[in-house]
Amino acid sequence: MARVALVTGGSRGIGAAISKALLEAGYQVAATYAGNDEKAAAFTAETGIKTYKWDVGNYEASEAGIAQVEADLGPIDVVVANAGITWDGFFHKMKPEQWQKVIDTNLTGVFNTVRPIWPGMRERKFGRVIVISSVNGQKGQAGQVNYAATKAGDIGIVRSLAQEGARAGITANAVCPGYIGTEMVLAIDEKVLNEHIIPQIPAGRLGEPEEIARCVVFLASEDAGFINGSTISANGAQFFA
Ligand code: NDP
Repeated sequence: MARVALVTGGSRGIGAAISKALLEAGYQVAATYAGNDEKAAAFTAETGIKTYKWDVGNYEASEAGIAQVEADLGPIDVVVANAGITWDGFFHKMKPEQWQKVIDTNLTGVFNTVRPIWPGMRERKFGRVIVISSVNGQKGQAGQVNYAATKAGDIGIVRSLAQEGARAGITANAVCPGYIGTEMVLAIDEKVLNEHIIPQIPAGRLGEPEEIARCVVFLASEDAGFINGSTISANGAQFFA
C-alpha cells in the first residue's frame, strides 16, 4: 500500500509543487487549504489530488480534518507543514493582531498539524515530519518580525521533535526556502523585488517551487532516515551569519 502524505497549504504555490512531486513519487496525497475554493478545485481537477479545507490555526478543526484524511486514505506517514502567511510591517507599526495572526498560522499551525498525527507515527514506528521554514527565519528580516519569529520557531520545533522521535523511526526536518516565485512573493511590489530582493540573491533569480519540492521528496524517503533535526537551505546562495 502506498504511503500517505498530508501537505498543508498544498493547493497552490510551493505546497502544490510538493503535493504533485509526492504524488509522482508514489504517495497517496491529501492537500489542505484555507479558503480559496476556486484554486483548490482547479488543483484537484488538474492533479486528481483531493483537497481539504480547514484553518491550521484552529486545533479542533485540524484534528477533525486529519481524522477525515486518515479515514479516507489511511494513517498519515508523511506530514508537510507548509501552510503559511505573511503580514509584513515595520515593528514600530506592527499591530497585535498582525503578530497574532502570523503566529497562529505559521507557528501554532505546525503544532496543530503535527500533534494529532504524532502518536500514530510513534505507534507505527515510522514518520516523516517536514516543516517549511524560511531563510528569513534563519537570518531575520526587517519588516517581518512576526514572520521571522515563526520561521525561527519552526527550526526549534523540528530539532526538538527529532530528538523525541528518533528512536521511534520518525524524522523531523525543516526546509528553508529563499525567495520562490509564488503568489506570496509575486505580491511584493515589482520595484522592490527587482531592485532590492533579486540583487541580494547570488543566483540572480527567484527559486522555483519544484526546487523545494524535490528536497521534500528526498526527506520523505526511506533513504533520508538518518537526516533528522536538520535545516536544509534552498536559497540560491543567500548568505547569513
Ligand atoms: P502561497 O501564499 O502561495 O500559498 C499558501 C498556501 O497556504 C495556500 O494553499 C493557502 O490556502 C494555505 N494557507 C494559508 N493560510 C492557511 C491557514 N490558516 N490554514 C490552512 N491553509 C492556509 O504560499 P507559498 O507557496 O509562497 O509558501 C508556502 C510556505 O513556504 C509558507 O510557509 C511560506 O512561509 C514558506 N516560504 C515561502 C517562500 C516564498 O518565497 N514563496 C520563501 C520561504 C518560505 P488558500 O489557497 O486557501 O489561501
